Amino acid sequence: MVVTLARPPARHPAVINVGASPAPTNQPAADGAQLVVAGLDPSACRAYRPTGAANGRTVFLDAGHGGPDPGGSGELNDGTPVVEKVATLAVAGYLSQRLRAQGYRVVLSRTGDTAVTQLTDADLDSGSMRGSALHRDLLARIACANASAADALVAIHFNAFDDSSATGAETFFDPARPFAGRSRALAESLQAALVAELRLDDRGVTSDEDLSAPTITDAGAAYGHLIELGPRDAGWVDTPSAMPGALVEPLFLTAPDEAVLAARADGQARIARALADGLGGYFSRS
Ligand SMILES: [Zn+2]
Repeated sequence: MVVTLARPPARHPAVINVGASPAPTNQPAADGAQLVVAGLDPSACRAYRPTGAANGRTVFLDAGHGGPDPGGSGELNDGTPVVEKVATLAVAGYLSQRLRAQGYRVVLSRTGDTAVTQLTDADLDSGSMRGSALHRDLLARIACANASAADALVAIHFNAFDDSSATGAETFFDPARPFAGRSRALAESLQAALVAELRLDDRGVTSDEDLSAPTITDAGAAYGHLIELGPRDAGWVDTPSAMPGALVEPLFLTAPDEAVLAARADGQARIARALADGLGGYFSRS
């Protein structure tokens, strides 16, 4: 039903030291090398060189969910299930290919069906990730984004709702950051490209402070931002993401006519093309 990303090399790849030293993008690195971040799943947080002429920019792509966290789900008109974690990884793969060909260095939060943080049995409750593990996983995604020294962060998700008549594309940014203007510009460019390419309803660009999604814990509810995009909050998000970012929800998995785009390779490639166009538009204006 969907493609998966190429596995990293069988040999243990070289690692890039991105501690306090500047300009990690200039350091030689094996392709697909894992960035140095504490506590990662072995297949997580990998950096890929451009395949076209380098343009000097790095994009961090976060395929939402993974492993024991499936995210949302829906089904096609024929009953075929569509699971968010599968579709986000597929879109990230197509998008990575496209961006690298355009000269970007790309860092992927995950390259397989795993969490980004390394999980232990203690993180699971009847096979599902505990709230503490979901929180740690999101912090690991931030740590990977920051280690990548990316110019932009794009978190890829799909919407789901208990009413199948909910449709359309929506993109979130966080207004409480020093670079909020650029995050908004990134979100607007991604949203416009999604609507133009997919021809879906335009739900618009929304502040994550207005998000009414369920939160994983009471502390998450008190925080009031998306963890990956939001500001520092001691004890909850000690080190926030350091670059402009947006979270896209290109369509509803619970709307069968839209879910087919997320389920099929040609639809996933179209979503990726839209996101690449959106990133290109953003960088051309910034
Ligand atoms: Zn999601």
